[in-house]
Amino acid sequence: MRGLPVERGILSRLLSRPDEVMLEHGAGGELLVAKLRTMLSVPILALPLIAAAGGADTTQTLVGLVAAVFVNIVAQVWLALARNHRRHRWLPFATGTWDVTATSVVLVLLAMDDPVSGVNSVVIWCFYAIAIFVTALRNDGRLTLYVGALAIVQYAALSFSILALAAQPLISIGYGQATVAAQLERLVLLLIATGLTCAVVYRMQRLVELSGRDGLTGLPNRAWLLQRLPRMFQAARDDGHSLTIALVDLDRFKRLNDDFGHRAGDRAIRHVVSLLGEMLERGEHVARIGGQEFVLVLRCPIGSAWERLDRTRRELADSPFHLERGNETASLSFSAGLASFPQDGGDASTLLGVADRRLQQAKREGRNRVAALDL
Ligand code: GH3
Ligand code: MG
Repeated sequence: MRGLPVERGILSRLLSRPDEVMLEHGAGGELLVAKLRTMLSVPILALPLIAAAGGADTTQTLVGLVAAVFVNIVAQVWLALARNHRRHRWLPFATGTWDVTATSVVLVLLAMDDPVSGVNSVVIWCFYAIAIFVTALRNDGRLTLYVGALAIVQYAALSFSILALAAQPLISIGYGQATVAAQLERLVLLLIATGLTCAVVYRMQRLVELSGRDGLTGLPNRAWLLQRLPRMFQAARDDGHSLTIALVDLDRFKRLNDDFGHRAGDRAIRHVVSLLGEMLERGEHVARIGGQEFVLVLRCPIGSAWERLDRTRRELADSPFHLERGNETASLSFSAGLASFPQDGGDASTLLGVADRRLQQAKREGRNRVAALDL
């Protein structure tokens, strides 16, 4: 029972829509899968020929060849769509459906000639597992669960229909005997393949997330911020809300480290982060972009951003920071520079440049202040 909340967390993460950056990574995965599909589809052409050399009859060889050529043509179509700059959200689901359904269709075609080959062919059946495994590259748990479920449902329907409808006993010279137990085992294997692929997707999502986080504070880092800022600007343009960027730098922080040690410095950073976090409203962010440098993204005009940040500045400067040992306290303060979108600039580097210029000005004027204008 103790593991349940974690498992529920994993499941809800797998079922939820990944964020835009995760989907962007997934789109790169889709293109990689499309390229792999075109390359791996070529050796598929050899499979019916190998089967023919091994004694498969002409009809089976022809069915295999036609299917292999068709698979190669469709692989080129998926590649062209994945290369398209306009990302198609439905593409991974369409290609996943195709990978599974093409496998089922080939098995049905084989079964029309020899029912046992439809349920006992190992090579073709493996393409279900491959279809499930390659969903791992798309970073979307919903896709893996969908493709896994589709493969299980299609194969269950196909194999049990063949077992029920074909003339008994189901024995073939090339493919042995078809049994219900063997079909159930294959369904369990597909379930295991789905579960393992879900674990890979979950791990990949966690790693992408961790690569955008700072270890000391748990805040998003510079890479995270720079990836998201263009989308935040676009959202501000679309719904017409104001956006202000604040660059915050702690004052004389080196001295605090020198006087009280690095550990006290780290605690002070976390203390400031919790104060900055408290002033945020829905849809606003704080990122740690350097040792003691932070960026706030505030959804308000520069005037109210100044008022809000200055209130936090006063709160920090007026309350002494308690050091670990005894009753010793240290005073903490920060300086900040603000820049508003789109008045001060329309992209991340211009806005951060303007905010930095104002931050340096605040430092020159004596620190412990917020600058919103160039003097
Ligand atoms: P200023 O008022 O001009 O900003 O002076 P400052 O001393 O704060 O100088 P600066 O902004 O260049 O800060 C650099 C110092 O920040 C150096 C380093 O000791 C400290 N620092 C950077 N990252 C960390 C960290 O993760 N933990 C601790 N404890 N200190 C850090
Ligand atoms: Mg500093």
